[in-house]
Amino acid sequence: MIDIAKLTIAEARKKLDAKEFSAVDLAQAYLDEIKKKNKELNAYLEIFDDVLEQAKEVDARIAKGESYPLLGIPMAIKDVILIKGRRVSAASKILENYRATYDATVITKLKKQGAVFLGRTNMDEFAMGGSTENSAFGPTRNPHDTRRVSGGSSGGSVAAVASNMALGALGSDTGGSVREPASFCGIVGMKPTYGRVSRYGLIAMGSSLDCIGSIAKNTEDAKIIYDAIYGHDILDSTSIEDTTYAKPQIKKVIGVPWDLVNMEGVDVKVKENFKQSISKLENLGFKINDISIKNIDMALATYYIIMPAESSTNLSRFDGMRYGLHKDGKDLLEDYRLTKRAGFGKEVRRRILLGTYVLSSGYYDAYYGKAQIARSALKEEFAKAFKDVDIVATPTAPFVAWKIGEKSDPLSVYLADIFTITANMVGIPAISIPSGFSEVEGKKLPLGIQFMAPHGAEDLLFEVGKKFETVL
Ligand code: GLN
Repeated sequence: MIDIAKLTIAEARKKLDAKEFSAVDLAQAYLDEIKKKNKELNAYLEIFDDVLEQAKEVDARIAKGESYPLLGIPMAIKDVILIKGRRVSAASKILENYRATYDATVITKLKKQGAVFLGRTNMDEFAMGGSTENSAFGPTRNPHDTRRVSGGSSGGSVAAVASNMALGALGSDTGGSVREPASFCGIVGMKPTYGRVSRYGLIAMGSSLDCIGSIAKNTEDAKIIYDAIYGHDILDSTSIEDTTYAKPQIKKVIGVPWDLVNMEGVDVKVKENFKQSISKLENLGFKINDISIKNIDMALATYYIIMPAESSTNLSRFDGMRYGLHKDGKDLLEDYRLTKRAGFGKEVRRRILLGTYVLSSGYYDAYYGKAQIARSALKEEFAKAFKDVDIVATPTAPFVAWKIGEKSDPLSVYLADIFTITANMVGIPAISIPSGFSEVEGKKLPLGIQFMAPHGAEDLLFEVGKKFETVL
């Protein structure tokens, strides 16, 4: 019997090498768990039918003496990352039966290491949302309370790992989509520096914000996944060289923007838990600085101009002409109308409208132009802050996972991103680590703390994350 509830990637790897179990045994254990749980949680949109064959090939590689950190590790992949020959839908009707014609760079890297792909996971359609309620294929449920959302948009990947239906996963993070669900489901989610992990083969949302992130049960495992996928890639023109950013000098100082944390709308239990976490960090020997980052409260509004502008541009390729859903009308314009109406969900349409509006010639300077200026100012503010502190800490989300259907107003869902979007706007790496629970209606709902580091300082996040886990 393999105790998958306790297993981590690091341990599984050792046990595979020690022949305590085979990759086939391990994959089978996960398939069994998926069979028990996925119907209710709806974390996977598809379980691949060749999982055991993949595992068999891995066993042959292990027998030959190969040993990569992810060799034989069963992983879940968000339905927005291309795996050659497999379906990839971005949880949208418009791509429902689309098959990828090439591997994303992250997939090429995982294949080289010998990770076993269990399936593709549910998400908000085109990664637009914070709960997976915007999936065209039903929401993913939170393993801690199945009446509640898993968070999103990488809710399926996160719920899969949190419920032991995968040992690790990939997600995408444009404004918090790896970190917010990780916080809601009590696991670790990490977003790298923009450009550090190739976006080649990731279905684009907001191209200047998108990152592929790692999802795991603990920081050590999240680092193992990140180490496997990062690196310069000529196939992604925004990919950075590994040497682009210098290593920062460590000062052992953590900055907290208390003004933001204490803002109205942040749940009192979240604030309390965060304060406790900060005391724990003090006990670990960190100095805590109260910092103020000018205009950080405007980041959310700025994001909701830049992101729809970029998303609407990216989504224009889904016109039903070359691939994906196609509906016939009386002329080309009606083809487009019918296809997009049938293919795109409400939230996606909302963002296309918003994006095309802010980019339209009469409004470009007033909205998009201004938002770009605000973004540059925010980057400068963070650069200033990082002169005095190593890390900026905030809660990951302002509240716990809400009940499915509870938030009908899109603005209230957008507010869930208040702490996470800044890292995407600035392009810096950030991680969410479990920080405890808030008891609501007899259920213990997970909370998370977010650490943000300067460009290229992922290792610092992992270091602090690992230390913080020791005092949980
Ligand atoms: N929740 C945010 C949004 O809806 C972030 C999404 C993401 O990171 N993909 O835009």
